[in-house]
Amino acid sequence: MASRLSNEEISRYGRQLILPEIGVTGQLNIQNSAVLIVGCGGLGCPIAQYLSAAGIGHLGLVDYDAVELGNLHRQVLHSEKTVGHSKVDSIKEAVTRLNSNVTCTVHHVVLSSSNAVDIIKRYDVIADATDNVATRYLINDSCVRLGKPLVSGSALRFEGQLTVYNFEGGPCYRCIFPAPPPAETVTSCSEGGVLGAVPGVIGNLQAIEIIKIVTGLKPSFSQKLLTYDAITGSFMAIKLRPRQPSCKGCGEHSQLSTTIDYVQWCGSGPDDKVCQINLLGAEDRISAHEYQSVANSNKPHLLVDVRPIVEYEICSLPNSINIPLATLQGSTELITRHLSNHLSTVYIVCRRGNDSQLAVQRLKHQLPSATIVKDLIGGLETWSREVDNSFPQY
Ligand SMILES: [Zn+2]
Repeated sequence: MASRLSNEEISRYGRQLILPEIGVTGQLNIQNSAVLIVGCGGLGCPIAQYLSAAGIGHLGLVDYDAVELGNLHRQVLHSEKTVGHSKVDSIKEAVTRLNSNVTCTVHHVVLSSSNAVDIIKRYDVIADATDNVATRYLINDSCVRLGKPLVSGSALRFEGQLTVYNFEGGPCYRCIFPAPPPAETVTSCSEGGVLGAVPGVIGNLQAIEIIKIVTGLKPSFSQKLLTYDAITGSFMAIKLRPRQPSCKGCGEHSQLSTTIDYVQWCGSGPDDKVCQINLLGAEDRISAHEYQSVANSNKPHLLVDVRPIVEYEICSLPNSINIPLATLQGSTELITRHLSNHLSTVYIVCRRGNDSQLAVQRLKHQLPSATIVKDLIGGLETWSREVDNSFPQY
């Protein structure tokens, strides 16, 4: 434990050192602190960046994933050079470039019931920068067991949220959310989209809350939820209920154990980026390769793309018509108009092959009985992967 600042440190941290709220004691506290960031994506990058710049002593990074091109618009510590590298190594490299005084420990794993406590116990404050419910409960429960404050952020589309859990008698995540939402109602960034600077805003706020905790300034958002709406430009802080004695996490009759299967409990996990549903029998489906033969042989058919207009405008298959799933109900007539005695086969395509199955289910009973309706298995992503590599993925 360092007890005084070197001349190099005084020069480097001078601007924050002269803040009376930080001072030498605050700076030493920052340098003697260990912070774990779970999730090295859109939130994790700004947290790691500002904590390192501020001189955090030990930074732990958890992520199982590798950097992809589609991450770079929001995960700004990664770069074109580190596409394909593990995210933890990519951030470690960036952090070391920024401040070589920071000790960086990488945990290139999926955080799970079997390793969470062992990893989390080595750190003073934990940042939840993940994007899935199962991991949120896992991190929360581990923090409750170990008595660690948890600075939690999330961002989707144009909206962000921030809360500090388990801080000095404040509520934990389970006090506020006793049970996970139904898996099918959870939207991920890859499905819902996100404006890159939104997680940037929230991640920076998480970094500030962490610095306030380690310097003894106390966080602003314990038992409070901060919401940010980038469309209206508004921040709102909502008071949350206090710690619940009946909470199954931190309450009097806590039921936490190391054997909870979080993925099963939440119905979704950290590594299934897109969940595949299976609604149709084989007779109602066509593979990408089979459809390729149909298209090449010019067999008459109608190809309906049920993605939202904004996605159809990005890319589409030739000769397809766009009827977004949301408007399908009122569009049966439009489809029927395209059909004739010679044309009674309708193929449905979407981005990943889930919405197309829903569409087939809905259309089957609405179109003339002789009509064959099938979905293209795996959607345009599978088409791009297996049939036409030049078809863009987004
Ligand atoms: Zn609780």
